Amino acid sequence: MTATILDGEALAAKVTEQLKTDVAAMANPPHLVAVQVGDPPASRVYVRNQRRTCEAIGLKYTLDQLPEAAGRHELLAAVDRHNADAAVSGIILQMPLPEGVNPREVQWRIDPAKDVEGMVPANIGRLVYGASDFGPCTPLGALELIKLAGCPVEGAHAVVVGHSEIVGKPMVNLLLGMNATVTCCHIFTPDITPLTRQAEILVVATGARQARWQGYRRKRKKDKNAPLPDLSPLVKADMVRDGACVIDVGINRIPRSIDAQGNAEVWPEGHKRAGKPRMITVGDCDFDGLKEKAGWLTPVPGGAGPMTVAILLRNCVELAKRAAG
Ligand code: NAD
Repeated sequence: MTATILDGEALAAKVTEQLKTDVAAMANPPHLVAVQVGDPPASRVYVRNQRRTCEAIGLKYTLDQLPEAAGRHELLAAVDRHNADAAVSGIILQMPLPEGVNPREVQWRIDPAKDVEGMVPANIGRLVYGASDFGPCTPLGALELIKLAGCPVEGAHAVVVGHSEIVGKPMVNLLLGMNATVTCCHIFTPDITPLTRQAEILVVATGARQARWQGYRRKRKKDKNAPLPDLSPLVKADMVRDGACVIDVGINRIPRSIDAQGNAEVWPEGHKRAGKPRMITVGDCDFDGLKEKAGWLTPVPGGAGPMTVAILLRNCVELAKRAAG
């Protein structure tokens, strides 16, 4: 069997095109505020892309950049200020927060009516009651990809690998809401293979390969002979049922290869990054192997990632519509 590749970029473009039309018809454009502490270099590209994507569909975007020394008190005060501002439709917290600040406390302070990431308890609760018009961006994006596949969900056995609050758990609830029979497995599941093999719909969100690489690097600092990490895909072709719909949410930054001493392959002489580790972005699943096994399959990058961004924008427009009554 040759899998149909589910193109997340194309689907996201369709969603944002529709949003553009919706926003153009609104009296006041929705306003997304991102709260960030300091100016971490790792977040700059992310923030720039956020602004660009918002502005492309007509959303107003403001970065509320708090001083580097800001802590819990200042963050909570910033959230309170934006909660109280009727001109703000959605609030997003840029990670990482400073050390010592509990991200959950700040996140939960966001008014559920402005919680653009759909992560505060009131919005997670709505998922349990079957709402799927608004909620956590990545699982909702994955659900849109499953709908694009068009495979039956009602009565199907869906298996979710990963049980985080941001992806796995909400995904389970969304699939239950569509009357699938759902199994969730995770790091403490002794053997995921007998479960993944049963899945007609398989959603994988672990980041296990990156976690192994990072764990190895930490160990190697103390012990040069630490055992080499297994960076192979977590879900291989023989772990998947013929014709399954596989949504690979995982995003892993790992070296293209490592040598017998555990050194990452580096860019060759002449390349602008010569001597630096040659990193690649891969999913949790063996894309090439699964192409000949699954019925539908998402690529990484280009699958679940772009849909997460599209759903964030959709959430913001939805919140603005609700606020406007
Ligand atoms: P997390 O670290 O919070 O949770 C990881 C989950 O995977 C846990 O439930 C853990 O039990 C499970 N897990 C880890 N190793 C496992 C193993 N060997 N076998 C079975 N289960 C295992 O991560 P998260 O925030 O849920 O993100 C998961 C992955 O999805 C990451 O790669 C992340 O980068 C990616 N992600 C992608 C998007 C996107 O836009 N596409 C958004 C969010 C997260």
